[in-house]
Amino acid sequence: MSRLRLNIKGRVQGVGFRPFVFNLAKRLNLNGYVKNTSKGVVIEIEGERTEEFVELLQTSPPPLSRIEGIQKEVLDDAGFSEFRILSSEDEGSFTHVSPDVSICEDCRRELMTPSDRRYLYPFINCTNCGPRYSITLRLPYDRPNTTMAPFRMCPRCNEEYHNPEDRRFHAQPNACPICGPSLRLIVNSPEFDNFKNLPPLEAIIKILKNGGIVAIKGLGGFHIACNAEDRRAVVVLRHRKGRGNKPFALMAPDIETIERYCYVEPEERRLLLSEQKPIVLLRKRSPLLPHEIAPQNRYLGFMLPYTPLHYLLFCHPIDEDSRNFSVLVMTSGNLSEEPIIHKDEDALKRLSHIVDAFLLHNREIFMRVDDSVVTSEFFIRRARGYVPEPVKLPMDTGEFLGVGADLKNTFTLTKEGYAIVSQHIGDMDNYETLQFFEEVLDNLSGLYRITPEAIGADLHPDYYSRRWADRQGLPVFYFQHHYAHVASVMAEHNLTEKVIGVVFDGTGYGTDGTIWGGEFIVADLEGFQRKGHLRYMPLPGGEASIKEPWRTGLSLLRETFGENTEAWIERLGIAKRVPVERISKILKVIENPHLSPLSSGCGRLFDAVASLMGVKDINTFEAEAPMALEALVVEGVTSFYPFDIIEEEVFIVDYRPLIISLVEDLIKEEPLSSVATKFHNSVVEMVVEATERLSESTGLKTVVLSGGVFQNLYLIRRVVQRLKQRNYRVFYNRMLPPNDACISLGQVYLLAWRHS
Ligand code: ZN
Ligand code: ZN
Ligand code: FE
Repeated sequence: MSRLRLNIKGRVQGVGFRPFVFNLAKRLNLNGYVKNTSKGVVIEIEGERTEEFVELLQTSPPPLSRIEGIQKEVLDDAGFSEFRILSSEDEGSFTHVSPDVSICEDCRRELMTPSDRRYLYPFINCTNCGPRYSITLRLPYDRPNTTMAPFRMCPRCNEEYHNPEDRRFHAQPNACPICGPSLRLIVNSPEFDNFKNLPPLEAIIKILKNGGIVAIKGLGGFHIACNAEDRRAVVVLRHRKGRGNKPFALMAPDIETIERYCYVEPEERRLLLSEQKPIVLLRKRSPLLPHEIAPQNRYLGFMLPYTPLHYLLFCHPIDEDSRNFSVLVMTSGNLSEEPIIHKDEDALKRLSHIVDAFLLHNREIFMRVDDSVVTSEFFIRRARGYVPEPVKLPMDTGEFLGVGADLKNTFTLTKEGYAIVSQHIGDMDNYETLQFFEEVLDNLSGLYRITPEAIGADLHPDYYSRRWADRQGLPVFYFQHHYAHVASVMAEHNLTEKVIGVVFDGTGYGTDGTIWGGEFIVADLEGFQRKGHLRYMPLPGGEASIKEPWRTGLSLLRETFGENTEAWIERLGIAKRVPVERISKILKVIENPHLSPLSSGCGRLFDAVASLMGVKDINTFEAEAPMALEALVVEGVTSFYPFDIIEEEVFIVDYRPLIISLVEDLIKEEPLSSVATKFHNSVVEMVVEATERLSESTGLKTVVLSGGVFQNLYLIRRVVQRLKQRNYRVFYNRMLPPNDACISLGQVYLLAWRHS
């Protein structure tokens, strides 16, 4: 007989770990206890079969858990007489918080079983599913520390909660129609007044069926929904929401339905069905849905229902024999670029002009988290289902904060070798986003008890995030934007060696005061050197040209054709789309270096080409023009346009030969699909050529790719394939988006390295 004490680290709370341990101990006739601590879980076991216990715990742990380490100690017998689950203990160290988990199969079955006491109950959950991160106020993860605290369990729920044999044993958000949260309906438009007295869910379904637009309080915030097959509703929603052409996310009840509209590759199917249930960008297959959902886009963003409430929208038996909807639009409940709304009173105040009705509930959302958006290669937005899953760094760390960049902001906290990256915060140029940043920072640093000793920020003197950092009274370390991009990939893959970094994005502040964004660097954790970049071009009007690609289009022509620019403007028919006065004004602005900062941004090159091709002259949301260009790409075109690499102090990748050939193709009226594909292929070749050049001079064979331009599936796949053919080890962002959402991780990695 011996007593074993096990200290278990990893994702072991809120995932049914203690009940699992309890049942396993019972089965093996072991006595002792299990308890949550703020470090993880502690188990003591006594009996004959302790080794078997450890073995089984390692080989078949509960499905949602992830054990990262078991520390074993052999102790003298304590003479336990039973196995017990002890109440949690508070010790103040790093522990994992589980992300929110989508509804499990068992709960879904009960939800649709008429004899079950939770039949059609929209808040059904169990040990294996339900809200976690979004309702957790404090650690350890116990009901009184969640927004479920105000709901007192009824006798039957209480009995499930305390019964180790029950699948709701210690399920903290356990609830039923008698004791748990409930729905509330508010009808906003007189048009739908006749549904006012129906039960809330039925009313909402009827309003949706009748072409209405509704706000639905979900897991991490509000959605705005309408029937996606109803073109009029989609158009009205786009109009009321006023966010240009930004694609709407869609929800369908099952994969078969999604396959009617999109191609679903095996990896994409896995992502759709995963416990995280993200929005997956899928290639459009048929024009069955209104094109206004995602105009000029190659993809549709689909997700499956992830809460019981979502299931009921589709499957509530209002119509005896059919599904209520095939597809719903489920877009974030926010105003243009502001953060997602999570409080009832905010929704009522801010969304009233958009929606005809509200479906509310009385379980408070503590941490607001948007839906995550992924492709089979990378994240576009990392939030619900993934946050706050930490990134393990290759060294022990102190407590630091990286405040990220201003677009697609996230921040990252470190503690004990872990980096916790916040959910998607948004664009920092509005007050609401800045507030959201502070709100989540308060919540996360409180949850993990982190007090940063220093802050990492972007070099850009005008970034709100940096200015915020400067006000905190802590040491601030500034990192160049594209270096931080490279460092984020190094952090994800635990790289510490010297690498070749290729960063293609829109804009980032360079060490020389120009705007960088088509960068070839050599970097390690000590520092970096800029070895090459795309040729500079003036951005007429600075920021304004980011919203108006036609301006960069003119700039590109001016760079390429000099004196002959106006002839080419004529030949390409640009004056048919843009008023002549504006063209001549911008041509003057280009000549003025004070009004037209220089940029090597690859995103701007995509913008400019999209405009020259007549594909897109205005970006109504970030990267709209490059996405429209990607939408034209076809398989099977392998040729590319020529370009030069000119050796100066650093090497310059000169795109002018490319532009000359490209406009010739346009004049010859080559199909746009072939022009767009050849342009993409040229960018791939630029990366390959520049990498070869850098590898020859440095001997390095490890390449890191990052930056928003690599959110282009065609581009990233080609680049990776071509580099691997030439025997490079290639790394890119897999756990975070390659856009500026990864910057904060890069910053803390560099910061922590300097302090380790
Ligand atoms: Zn469940
Ligand atoms: Zn109950
Ligand atoms: Fe960037």
